[in-house]
Amino acid sequence: MNRSALYPGTFDPVTYGHLDIIERASRIYDEVLVSVAHSEEKKPLFSVKERVSMLKEATGHLGNVGVEDFEGLVVEYAKKKKMRVIIRGLRMISDFEFEFQMALTNRKLAEEIETIFMMTSDNYSYLSSKLIKEAVTLGADVKSFVPPFVADKLKEKLSRR
Ligand code: ADP
Repeated sequence: MNRSALYPGTFDPVTYGHLDIIERASRIYDEVLVSVAHSEEKKPLFSVKERVSMLKEATGHLGNVGVEDFEGLVVEYAKKKKMRVIIRGLRMISDFEFEFQMALTNRKLAEEIETIFMMTSDNYSYLSSKLIKEAVTLGADVKSFVPPFVADKLKEKLSRR
């Protein structure tokens, strides 16, 4: 059986925390599909096209990882793709409540789909796209949090504001 998993998120933009989860998942599953949610309600800094393109560049070295965008319910997208596993990353206790709620809701919506949680690596536990954007706005160098080309794109976007 082909074991594949979907890793959904907003990825605005991709960080080393996301990439750590993607790399580790790619060693467990035959195929990992990183699924970029449009998330218009979150008013992302980067367009969905830009977020997909950054993820493709950052995961280009992983042969079994694909990147696509999707709209609507993640479980519907998973069904359409014939995938039964959704991966989510957990950073700290504060992530738990929301993730737990979402996993249970998704299970009600589609019983056959399982959410699998992967613990962050300790050196990435504090990383979030939101904080990185704030740090860049305040002039920080974020090259240790995101790939260098993402850091450049962040600077470009945020300095134009
Ligand atoms: P969403 O809008 O769905 O929360 P994100 O792009 O913020 O999208 O996150 C996608 C997934 O990656 C979530 O499961 C989130 O918990 C996880 N994640 C984000 N940052 C990290 C990190 N530093 N370590 C581990 N998991 C992370």
